[in-house]
Amino acid sequence: MDTRLLIGNSFEAGQDACEQVLNPRTGGLILEVPEASGGQIDRAVAAARKAFGGWSRTTPAERSAALLRIADRIEADADAFAALEALNCGKPINAARGDEIPAIVDCFRFFAGAVRTQQGMAAGEYLAGHTSMIRRDPIGVVASIAPWNYPLMMMAWKLAPAIAGGNTIIFKPSEQTPLTALKLAHVLAEELPEGVVNVVSGRGHTVGSTLINHPGVDMISLTGDVATGKKMLDAAAKTIKRTHLELGGKAPVIVFDDADISEVVEGLRAFGFYNAGQDCTAACRIYAGKKVYDNLVADLTSAVSSIALGNDDDTTNEIGPLISLRQRDRVASFVNRARELGHIEVTTGGAAMDQGFYYRPTVVAGAKQEDEIVRREVFGPVVSITPFSDVEEAIGWANDSDYGLASSVWTRDVGRAMSSAAQLRYGCTWVNTHFMLVNEMPHGGLKQSGYGKDMSSYALEDYTVVRHVMVKHG
Ligand code: NAD
Repeated sequence: MDTRLLIGNSFEAGQDACEQVLNPRTGGLILEVPEASGGQIDRAVAAARKAFGGWSRTTPAERSAALLRIADRIEADADAFAALEALNCGKPINAARGDEIPAIVDCFRFFAGAVRTQQGMAAGEYLAGHTSMIRRDPIGVVASIAPWNYPLMMMAWKLAPAIAGGNTIIFKPSEQTPLTALKLAHVLAEELPEGVVNVVSGRGHTVGSTLINHPGVDMISLTGDVATGKKMLDAAAKTIKRTHLELGGKAPVIVFDDADISEVVEGLRAFGFYNAGQDCTAACRIYAGKKVYDNLVADLTSAVSSIALGNDDDTTNEIGPLISLRQRDRVASFVNRARELGHIEVTTGGAAMDQGFYYRPTVVAGAKQEDEIVRREVFGPVVSITPFSDVEEAIGWANDSDYGLASSVWTRDVGRAMSSAAQLRYGCTWVNTHFMLVNEMPHGGLKQSGYGKDMSSYALEDYTVVRHVMVKHG
């Protein structure tokens, strides 16, 4: 495939070190992608700056039309995008084709609509003899940096509101998963004016770091690790860049004694292990009422042991491998350290598989609030279960986390659900479900999970700036 970078309106090979892109299902090499040099990054930023003048003055209708064309092009080529994403990430093809691509297409379509219907304060004479009005204008040049877990979806979440808002962008995919971004670059080059979106690939500490420290960049948008987010803030401080940070998560799942346990088990089997648990909202930190704890452990163990993975016929797989050997070993080390604690029982899984970067879906029972497996983000197919005594303890433990992205509450009591949702300090709380996202609703965190929203009209607000224009009469 074409691995050239998009800089302005030209496609050119990266001029720096080659990064190996591996197939997580086998561990084999797919291809090598040379990363962008400093000079190429400078030219990408210059192209974005140059394009800003024209793009920022287009009408919402013009930007909306471009987003709709991009959506149509992805939809028309859905099979190829899905196949490439499945190859690069090891995702089951059905998940890539059936779940991700439609959500990506819908994301571009949502922002195509949202930019034409923005709301704001009424213009008026707030000072006698003067008319004030509010404008929402683009921020400028955005350096947009994505992770490897949902490469094309994260690209959509970042590009669509930024383009809709009238910004210009330099997008950097994860060095481990650049393939669908490089493919989409061809669509973007055809559907947008020169320089509106530039795509440069490469590692974080080289290409990423150069981008976020670049004086020509006005805003940094990252989805990634908390440690990377801190580097963004350091870089941003130098020239007071705006930042939009979607960082990690460790989602608590509170299962009250009155919950429908078969629904809980079905939900956790799906939402704790989707994408092999490489999801910042994964339902991974389970707190169960003492009356249901034993049954939940038994039923979840049996359900999780039936998750299909690693089959030659990929259409039968429910989850894939981890993204890399490093990630697989990281997951294994978390489980091994947990296993050494006397009170923990690994009831299913707990081992790597003898192929690619696979790790068996794992349930860690008997975990305590202070255990590492409960506190740190594993980002793999591993859930922990901890029994709790009462509501206060459950909510207290759920909130006792550095993270604040997503949470869920499982109960038949609507009052308890509402009261728990009100007390949980998370960007999202689901009741009797988990993980469900829609483009109309915001996704984003509190605490060290970062700030700024993806999806929804709130994302459009994040990628625009409020301005006041005041006109003196006569
Ligand atoms: P990562 O932080 O290692 O990498 C993310 C991106 O940042 C990559 O493109 C990487 O090249 C780049 N990067 C790394 N160091 C950099 C630096 N010094 N300067 C500039 N760029 C740099 O994260 P990852 O391992 O790719 O992804 C997993 C993490 O992402 C997890 O912690 C996960 O929770 C988080 N995540 C969060 C959300 C969310 O919405 N909150 C969504 C998905 C993933």
